[in-house]
Amino acid sequence: MLVAEGLMVFYENMLALNNISIKCGENQIIGVFGANSAGKSTLMYTLSGIILDQMKKEKMRGGEQITVMGEISLFDQDISSLKPHLRARRGIVLCPERRRLFPESSVLENLKIGAYMATKKEAKETLDYVLEIFSPLKKLLHRSAGFLSGGEQQMAAIGRALMAQPKLLLLDEPLLGLSPAYQQVVMESVKRIREMKKISIIITEQFARPVIPIVDYAYIMENGSRVMSGSGQELLDNPDVKAAYFGV
Ligand code: ATP
Repeated sequence: MLVAEGLMVFYENMLALNNISIKCGENQIIGVFGANSAGKSTLMYTLSGIILDQMKKEKMRGGEQITVMGEISLFDQDISSLKPHLRARRGIVLCPERRRLFPESSVLENLKIGAYMATKKEAKETLDYVLEIFSPLKKLLHRSAGFLSGGEQQMAAIGRALMAQPKLLLLDEPLLGLSPAYQQVVMESVKRIREMKKISIIITEQFARPVIPIVDYAYIMENGSRVMSGSGQELLDNPDVKAAYFGV
Protein backbone atom coordinates (compact mmCIF):
# COMPACT_ATOMS: atom_id res chain seq x y z
CA MET A 1 0.00 0.00 0.00
CA LEU A 2 2.85 2.42 0.87
CA VAL A 3 6.05 2.53 -1.16
CA ALA A 4 8.76 5.10 -0.37
CA GLU A 5 11.81 5.27 -2.59
CA GLY A 6 15.08 7.14 -2.31
CA LEU A 7 14.05 9.39 0.57
CA MET A 8 16.69 12.03 1.37
CA VAL A 9 16.28 14.73 3.99
CA PHE A 10 18.83 17.44 4.74
CA TYR A 11 18.63 19.81 7.70
CA GLU A 12 20.88 22.51 6.18
CA ASN A 13 23.91 20.40 5.21
CA MET A 14 23.21 17.59 7.65
CA LEU A 15 21.99 14.45 5.93
CA ALA A 16 19.28 13.01 8.20
CA LEU A 17 17.85 10.46 5.73
CA ASN A 18 20.19 8.96 3.17
CA ASN A 19 18.43 7.21 0.33
CA ILE A 20 15.87 5.34 2.42
CA SER A 21 13.46 3.01 0.65
CA ILE A 22 10.75 1.25 2.60
CA LYS A 23 7.55 -0.61 1.85
CA CYS A 24 4.48 -1.49 3.85
CA GLY A 25 1.86 -3.87 2.52
CA GLU A 26 -1.81 -4.00 3.43
CA ASN A 27 -2.46 -5.26 6.95
CA GLN A 28 1.28 -5.53 7.66
CA ILE A 29 3.23 -4.41 10.70
CA ILE A 30 6.66 -3.02 9.79
CA GLY A 31 9.42 -2.24 12.32
CA VAL A 32 12.07 0.46 11.91
CA PHE A 33 14.85 0.16 14.48
CA GLY A 34 17.73 2.52 15.15
CA ALA A 35 19.65 4.24 17.93
CA ASN A 36 19.15 7.87 18.99
CA SER A 37 19.49 10.22 16.02
CA ALA A 38 19.34 7.41 13.46
CA GLY A 39 16.62 9.32 11.62
CA LYS A 40 13.49 7.48 12.77
CA SER A 41 11.43 10.57 13.57
CA THR A 42 12.61 12.27 10.40
CA LEU A 43 11.36 9.23 8.47
CA MET A 44 7.96 9.42 10.20
CA TYR A 45 7.71 13.16 9.48
CA THR A 46 8.59 12.50 5.86
CA LEU A 47 6.01 9.73 5.42
CA SER A 48 3.27 11.75 7.13
CA GLY A 49 4.24 14.93 5.27
CA ILE A 50 4.82 16.93 8.45
CA ILE A 51 8.35 17.62 7.20
CA LEU A 52 6.79 19.76 4.43
CA ASP A 53 5.14 21.94 7.08
CA GLN A 54 8.42 22.19 8.99
CA MET A 55 10.16 23.15 5.75
CA LYS A 56 7.65 25.91 5.09
CA LYS A 57 7.77 27.23 8.67
CA GLU A 58 11.57 27.38 8.66
CA LYS A 59 11.55 29.16 5.32
CA MET A 60 9.04 31.76 6.52
CA ARG A 61 11.01 32.57 9.64
CA GLY A 62 14.31 32.57 7.76
CA GLY A 63 15.54 29.55 9.73
CA GLU A 64 17.40 26.46 8.56
CA GLN A 65 16.88 25.11 5.10
CA ILE A 66 15.24 21.70 5.01
CA THR A 67 15.50 19.75 1.75
CA VAL A 68 13.35 16.70 1.02
CA MET A 69 13.78 14.35 -1.94
CA GLY A 70 12.39 10.99 -3.00
CA GLU A 71 9.04 9.49 -3.84
CA ILE A 72 6.21 8.24 -1.72
CA SER A 73 3.15 6.49 -3.08
CA LEU A 74 0.05 5.29 -1.29
CA PHE A 75 -2.23 2.79 -3.04
CA ASP A 76 -0.21 3.45 -6.25
CA GLN A 77 -0.80 7.20 -6.13
CA ASP A 78 2.07 9.63 -5.76
CA ILE A 79 1.65 11.59 -2.52
CA SER A 80 5.20 13.02 -2.32
CA SER A 81 4.11 16.63 -2.43
CA LEU A 82 0.78 16.22 -0.66
CA LYS A 83 0.34 18.27 2.52
CA PRO A 84 0.05 16.38 5.81
CA HIS A 85 -3.68 16.99 6.33
CA LEU A 86 -4.38 15.62 2.85
CA ARG A 87 -2.25 12.56 3.57
CA ALA A 88 -4.25 12.13 6.79
CA ARG A 89 -7.44 12.21 4.71
CA ARG A 90 -6.02 9.41 2.59
CA GLY A 91 -5.33 7.43 5.74
CA ILE A 92 -1.77 8.16 6.93
CA VAL A 93 -1.96 9.10 10.61
CA LEU A 94 1.04 9.75 12.86
CA CYS A 95 1.16 9.09 16.58
CA PRO A 96 4.23 11.18 17.39
CA GLU A 97 7.14 10.48 19.69
CA ARG A 98 6.54 11.60 23.31
CA ARG A 99 2.79 11.37 22.68
CA ARG A 100 2.09 15.13 22.45
CA LEU A 101 -1.25 14.99 24.24
CA PHE A 102 -2.93 18.19 25.40
CA PRO A 103 -2.11 17.77 29.12
CA GLU A 104 -4.81 20.07 30.46
CA SER A 105 -7.57 18.58 28.34
CA SER A 106 -9.36 15.46 29.45
CA VAL A 107 -8.64 12.09 27.89
CA LEU A 108 -12.03 12.23 26.15
CA GLU A 109 -11.28 15.66 24.69
CA ASN A 110 -7.90 14.42 23.47
CA LEU A 111 -9.57 11.44 21.80
CA LYS A 112 -12.25 13.63 20.20
CA ILE A 113 -9.59 15.89 18.68
CA GLY A 114 -8.42 12.86 16.70
CA ALA A 115 -11.90 12.45 15.19
CA TYR A 116 -11.99 15.86 13.53
CA MET A 117 -12.53 14.30 10.09
CA ALA A 118 -15.22 11.84 11.18
CA THR A 119 -18.99 12.15 11.28
CA LYS A 120 -20.63 11.98 14.72
CA LYS A 121 -21.71 8.40 14.12
CA GLU A 122 -18.23 7.34 12.97
CA ALA A 123 -16.64 9.11 15.96
CA LYS A 124 -18.95 7.29 18.37
CA GLU A 125 -18.24 3.89 16.79
CA THR A 126 -14.50 4.54 16.74
CA LEU A 127 -14.54 5.67 20.37
CA ASP A 128 -16.27 2.43 21.37
CA TYR A 129 -13.60 0.44 19.58
CA VAL A 130 -10.72 2.49 21.04
CA LEU A 131 -12.13 1.88 24.53
CA GLU A 132 -12.48 -1.81 23.77
CA ILE A 133 -8.79 -2.01 22.85
CA PHE A 134 -7.60 0.30 25.61
CA SER A 135 -10.12 -0.57 28.31
CA PRO A 136 -8.13 1.07 31.18
CA LEU A 137 -8.99 4.44 29.55
CA LYS A 138 -12.71 3.92 30.24
CA LYS A 139 -12.44 5.08 33.83
CA LEU A 140 -9.98 7.86 32.97
CA LEU A 141 -12.02 9.64 30.30
CA HIS A 142 -12.65 12.75 32.39
CA ARG A 143 -9.20 12.99 33.91
CA SER A 144 -6.66 15.53 32.56
CA ALA A 145 -4.29 13.73 30.20
CA GLY A 146 -1.30 15.28 31.99
CA PHE A 147 -2.14 13.33 35.15
CA LEU A 148 -2.01 9.90 33.54
CA SER A 149 0.92 7.50 33.85
CA GLY A 150 3.26 7.13 30.86
CA GLY A 151 1.57 3.90 29.80
CA GLU A 152 -1.92 5.38 30.06
CA GLN A 153 -0.80 8.44 28.10
CA GLN A 154 0.55 6.20 25.36
CA MET A 155 -2.80 4.40 25.17
CA ALA A 156 -4.55 7.77 24.88
CA ALA A 157 -2.10 8.92 22.19
CA ILE A 158 -2.58 5.78 20.08
CA GLY A 159 -6.32 6.03 20.74
CA ARG A 160 -6.35 9.60 19.45
CA ALA A 161 -4.55 8.50 16.28
CA LEU A 162 -7.09 5.68 15.83
CA MET A 163 -9.94 8.17 16.13
CA ALA A 164 -8.74 9.59 12.78
CA GLN A 165 -9.48 6.16 11.25
CA PRO A 166 -6.07 5.48 9.73
CA LYS A 167 -5.36 3.03 6.95
CA LEU A 168 -1.67 3.37 7.77
CA LEU A 169 -0.82 4.13 11.39
CA LEU A 170 2.67 5.51 12.09
CA LEU A 171 3.82 4.90 15.67
CA ASP A 172 7.01 6.80 16.54
CA GLU A 173 8.72 5.18 19.53
CA PRO A 174 5.50 4.20 21.33
CA LEU A 175 7.42 2.32 24.04
CA LEU A 176 9.65 5.22 25.06
CA GLY A 177 9.88 5.44 28.85
CA LEU A 178 7.37 2.64 29.51
CA SER A 179 7.88 -0.19 31.99
CA PRO A 180 8.34 -3.67 30.47
CA ALA A 181 4.83 -4.57 31.63
CA TYR A 182 3.29 -1.57 29.82
CA GLN A 183 5.46 -2.23 26.76
CA GLN A 184 3.86 -5.66 26.60
CA VAL A 185 0.35 -4.19 26.96
CA VAL A 186 0.97 -1.64 24.18
CA MET A 187 2.42 -4.26 21.80
CA GLU A 188 -0.52 -6.63 22.44
CA SER A 189 -2.88 -3.73 21.69
CA VAL A 190 -1.09 -2.94 18.44
CA LYS A 191 -1.51 -6.57 17.41
CA ARG A 192 -5.23 -6.40 18.21
CA ILE A 193 -5.62 -3.18 16.23
CA ARG A 194 -4.21 -4.88 13.17
CA GLU A 195 -6.45 -7.92 13.66
CA MET A 196 -9.62 -5.93 14.32
CA LYS A 197 -9.21 -3.10 11.84
CA LYS A 198 -7.04 -4.66 9.11
CA ILE A 199 -4.88 -1.56 8.98
CA SER A 200 -1.15 -1.32 8.31
CA ILE A 201 1.24 -0.10 10.97
CA ILE A 202 4.83 1.17 10.90
CA ILE A 203 6.54 1.26 14.32
CA THR A 204 9.90 2.84 15.12
CA GLU A 205 11.84 1.90 18.24
CA GLN A 206 15.37 2.02 19.58
CA PHE A 207 15.20 -1.53 20.87
CA ALA A 208 13.84 -4.30 18.75
CA ARG A 209 13.16 -6.94 21.39
CA PRO A 210 9.63 -6.00 22.49
CA VAL A 211 8.50 -5.21 18.93
CA ILE A 212 10.04 -7.98 16.86
CA PRO A 213 7.44 -10.65 17.83
CA ILE A 214 4.68 -8.67 16.11
CA VAL A 215 6.41 -7.43 12.93
CA ASP A 216 6.14 -8.95 9.46
CA TYR A 217 9.29 -7.21 8.27
CA ALA A 218 11.77 -4.75 9.71
CA TYR A 219 14.46 -2.26 8.75
CA ILE A 220 17.50 -1.14 10.71
CA MET A 221 18.76 2.42 10.33
CA GLU A 222 22.09 3.94 11.29
CA ASN A 223 23.00 7.58 10.72
CA GLY A 224 20.11 8.09 8.33
CA SER A 225 20.91 5.04 6.22
CA ARG A 226 19.21 1.69 5.99
CA VAL A 227 21.83 -0.85 7.01
CA MET A 228 19.80 -4.02 7.08
CA SER A 229 16.31 -5.40 6.56
CA GLY A 230 14.58 -8.73 6.89
CA SER A 231 11.88 -10.69 8.65
CA GLY A 232 11.92 -10.65 12.44
CA GLN A 233 13.54 -14.08 12.48
CA GLU A 234 16.24 -13.09 9.97
CA LEU A 235 17.19 -10.11 12.12
CA LEU A 236 17.13 -12.23 15.28
CA ASP A 237 19.49 -14.72 13.63
CA ASN A 238 22.02 -12.02 12.75
CA PRO A 239 24.72 -11.76 15.46
CA ASP A 240 25.56 -8.08 14.74
CA VAL A 241 21.91 -7.09 14.95
CA LYS A 242 21.49 -9.12 18.13
CA ALA A 243 24.36 -7.36 19.84
CA ALA A 244 23.29 -3.86 18.80
CA TYR A 245 19.51 -3.98 19.04
CA PHE A 246 18.48 -6.85 21.24
CA GLY A 247 20.81 -6.18 24.15
CA VAL A 248 22.26 -9.72 23.86
P1 ATP B 1 15.53 9.81 18.57
O1 ATP B 1 15.46 8.38 18.98
O2 ATP B 1 16.51 10.61 19.40
O3 ATP B 1 14.20 10.48 18.44
P2 ATP B 1 15.64 9.57 15.70
O4 ATP B 1 16.14 8.27 15.19
O5 ATP B 1 14.17 9.77 15.71
O6 ATP B 1 16.24 9.83 17.12
P3 ATP B 1 15.78 12.06 14.24
O7 ATP B 1 15.05 12.80 15.31
O8 ATP B 1 15.07 11.78 12.99
O9 ATP B 1 16.35 10.70 14.84
O10 ATP B 1 17.12 12.86 13.93
C1 ATP B 1 18.03 12.47 12.91
C2 ATP B 1 19.15 13.49 12.87
O11 ATP B 1 18.66 14.73 12.38
C3 ATP B 1 19.77 13.78 14.23
O12 ATP B 1 21.16 13.96 14.08
C4 ATP B 1 19.11 15.06 14.68
O13 ATP B 1 19.94 15.82 15.51
C5 ATP B 1 18.88 15.75 13.33
N1 ATP B 1 17.70 16.63 13.34
C6 ATP B 1 16.43 16.25 13.59
N2 ATP B 1 15.58 17.29 13.47
C7 ATP B 1 16.35 18.36 13.14
C8 ATP B 1 16.10 19.73 12.86
N3 ATP B 1 14.87 20.23 12.87
N4 ATP B 1 17.15 20.52 12.56
C9 ATP B 1 18.39 20.02 12.51
N5 ATP B 1 18.71 18.76 12.74
C10 ATP B 1 17.71 17.92 13.05
